[in-house]
Amino acid sequence: MSIKAPKGTKDILPDEIVNWQFIVQKANEVFNKYNLKEIRTPIFEDTNLFERGVGDTTDIVNKEMYTFLKSDRSLTLRPENTAGVVRAYIEHNMYRESPPLKFWYFGPMFRYERPQAGRQRQFHQIGVELFGVQDASIDAECIMIAVEFLKSIGLDNLTVELNSIGCNTCRTEFKEQLKKKISPFLNELCDDCKSRYEKNPLRILDCKNENCNRLFEENNLKENLSSIKLCPECSTHYEKLKNYLNELNIKYVENPFLVRGLDYYTKTVFEIKSESLGSQNAVCGGGRYDNLVETLGGPHTPAVGWAMGVERLNALIPQENEALIDFYVVSDNQKEAVKLTAKLRKMGFSAEFDYNTRKFSKQLEKASKIANYAVILGEDELKSGYYTVKNLKNTFQQKMTFEQLITIII
Ligand code: ATP
Ligand code: MG
Repeated sequence: MSIKAPKGTKDILPDEIVNWQFIVQKANEVFNKYNLKEIRTPIFEDTNLFERGVGDTTDIVNKEMYTFLKSDRSLTLRPENTAGVVRAYIEHNMYRESPPLKFWYFGPMFRYERPQAGRQRQFHQIGVELFGVQDASIDAECIMIAVEFLKSIGLDNLTVELNSIGCNTCRTEFKEQLKKKISPFLNELCDDCKSRYEKNPLRILDCKNENCNRLFEENNLKENLSSIKLCPECSTHYEKLKNYLNELNIKYVENPFLVRGLDYYTKTVFEIKSESLGSQNAVCGGGRYDNLVETLGGPHTPAVGWAMGVERLNALIPQENEALIDFYVVSDNQKEAVKLTAKLRKMGFSAEFDYNTRKFSKQLEKASKIANYAVILGEDELKSGYYTVKNLKNTFQQKMTFEQLITIII
């Protein structure tokens, strides 16, 4: 029996990689403008980091982690990268530097979820984390970076949903209100919601279970619920953020029921959604996490960030074609073909030849698939010192010297 890629994982084949490289290149360009620095943290970390960082009442920690033991040490493939970046920030005493410290990352994440369109077990995220600023101007910048990056890859018709979930004090009343509204039909909700009800009722609003969502609708849960009443500090912060966004011309829609699936958020939360993605419609999720650095053993440090699912971005942008190489050397003289190909590559061109010296027709067929020009090097050409160069797009063919040949590619 042949071995297949594990369920929920995908090979990214060469003709798809063009889009991936495009996305990362644009990320690099946009993030540079904002003075973000790339950071790469390990793919696996101490399990403890995620239990403390992501939160032990989250789906991620409770059900979705790839955890394994090595020499009695419990390790976990990272389900997200914020905890890892915060760990590195603390470990390398980066809080001693003058703020802000601004990072971005790109890499695979692992969650044991039910695979479906837009949901994999190994998937990729691009994310940013901005440390050390309490003012709402950095929340606005954080959202602006996301919007500008999405625009740079051609996505400018997405919706930014915004909310403030305040601090713990602000949420107390809302949680009680929510629990009261839910208690009459609590028994009909999924097991996850039942345990959320006890441990973290806010998260019920983020449930993906269809039956639960139907029950919320039927019981008019959202219609009857007033939004989180923010304390003066959180409220000022939220108002300032909205003002900044208006000044910066960033469009957003307020969603008072937007909560995020991770425990560490405070104040600002946001998601960026696309209508054309079906039910897995969020491409970006983020928010402020002012307590996480402290929770993980560092000094109190305000921070804000976001992560995007790269597979979901990919699903929204048109598939680019693989780039063609410059020259394909067509010859029945293996030695001369090797020499000419090497010479072209040395000059900086991309070049290929037929390692198997097949018939000219076969070589030309391959050339027309992968190259812009075929350089034909037969007996005549070797004798005369002229190369026959064929433009594979329009099949126009011409004899020329090597010096002429290398000027046809601009
Ligand atoms: P969702 O609500 O879709 O489960 P999430 O709230 O769990 O997302 P985050 O942890 O905030 O997502 O991750 C940010 C982004 O990463 C999501 O908006 C999504 O684009 C992407 N993402 C999350 N989980 C997956 C997955 N299993 N497969 C593919 N992309 C994912
Ligand atoms: Mg999720």
